[in-house]
Amino acid sequence: MPVSVFDIFKIGIGSSSSHTVGPMTAARRFALSLADKQLLPAVQRLQVDLFGSLALTGQGHGTDRAIILGLLGESPDTVDPDAMPLMLEQVRASASLSILGRQAIAFAEKSDLVLHRREELPRHPNGLRITAFGADGQPIDRETYYSVGGGFVVTESEFDRSADVSEELPFPYHSATELLDIGRNQQMSIAAIARANEEARRSPAEVDAGLTRIWQAMQDCVQRGLAMDGSLPGGLGLQRRARQHLLALEAGKQERHAELLNPLAALQWVNAVAFAVAEENAAGGRVVTAPTNGAAGVIPAVIHYLARFASETGQTEIFNFLLVAGAIGSLYKENASISGAAVGCQGEIGVACSMAAGGLAAALGGSNAQLENAAEIGMEHHLGLTCDPIGGLVQVPCIERNAIAATTAINACLIALRGDGRHLVSLDKVIATMRQTGADMQAKYKETSLGGLAVNLVEC
Ligand code: SF4
Repeated sequence: MPVSVFDIFKIGIGSSSSHTVGPMTAARRFALSLADKQLLPAVQRLQVDLFGSLALTGQGHGTDRAIILGLLGESPDTVDPDAMPLMLEQVRASASLSILGRQAIAFAEKSDLVLHRREELPRHPNGLRITAFGADGQPIDRETYYSVGGGFVVTESEFDRSADVSEELPFPYHSATELLDIGRNQQMSIAAIARANEEARRSPAEVDAGLTRIWQAMQDCVQRGLAMDGSLPGGLGLQRRARQHLLALEAGKQERHAELLNPLAALQWVNAVAFAVAEENAAGGRVVTAPTNGAAGVIPAVIHYLARFASETGQTEIFNFLLVAGAIGSLYKENASISGAAVGCQGEIGVACSMAAGGLAAALGGSNAQLENAAEIGMEHHLGLTCDPIGGLVQVPCIERNAIAATTAINACLIALRGDGRHLVSLDKVIATMRQTGADMQAKYKETSLGGLAVNLVEC
């Protein structure tokens, strides 16, 4: 069953959908369930156990901070990124926290937030378990959560249950082939199919309002990222570059090589926007998960390209882009994965590129077959891409990778629009190949920072 576009695109905070947004959501869910079960007054201690990738790269990705904020009752879509440092400082300085602001307990990160770096829970590399203890030191409640990518969180019992099985949609599908068949039989575009499914979940006005909110959040993020200077947090000393790219682009009109640079202006613009979002994400700012935080710059960069360089781009084209990109992202979520910890970076940057290529093709008036082709090309050339973030931070190679994938998505779209939609490798085949490649990939290349660039950086 296709996942809603509003689950694929979620407003959250950096730096990672699976390691920040997901764990915050899980911690908040646990706190709310304690309240629902009326157990809150009995809780005297909490212990949070992080396993696998969450333990290995969680500190660089802000998992520890996210857990604390979630237990306080904060949600990724509403927490004020500027207020977070003070909230965390108060918990750390007092070695205590107030669950949902209602039950104060001692909380010492060293002993109550336990990292199991050599141990994985059986169902997914991103596992966490939260246990509440009563006054007698005995557990009174416990839950295991898996952060399965893109900010999605499931409990142990929910893991095998496919999302929203009870949902009745006018156009259910499980593969790109089925989606294309619906389009052919109903004489509908994929954007129209995706919209009809969304309108079965909420009113047309709510769909429009939700899409407007997503696009506005993307634009706000780009504006903030383009205005910022200085180094990113985390210890690598990496400087923000989005603003410099923008300034160079504007100054380029007067440069000696203006005639050479001008034809590449669109490319430079895409780079600046992708950097702006990826740097905001790395700094823990407000971003739209698309479909993950590590890859959050790709789709905004391509939509900004569309809005700036394609004439006659209006709200309809942007909404169609988001609806189609969401439908494509849903196919990956159902049939492979959008988690770097499960399948490597092909599942994050590769999926974002595929979604952006298909979305752009739809916005530019491509046929269903052409946009399926564009989405396929976008993934085909990311197959095997590993995840090896240096220092466990979503910075290198992640930030540049967003810019490279955004420009690849535009090229994938151009290639597809030059054809008639007929092509050898189908989107379904490339999704299956991505899943199999991810399964064959050595664990050290799946968001552990134990391989690749993460271990080969020469320290000066
Ligand atoms: S390398 Fe790719 S998958 Fe890994 S953290 Fe960076 S963007 Fe995410």
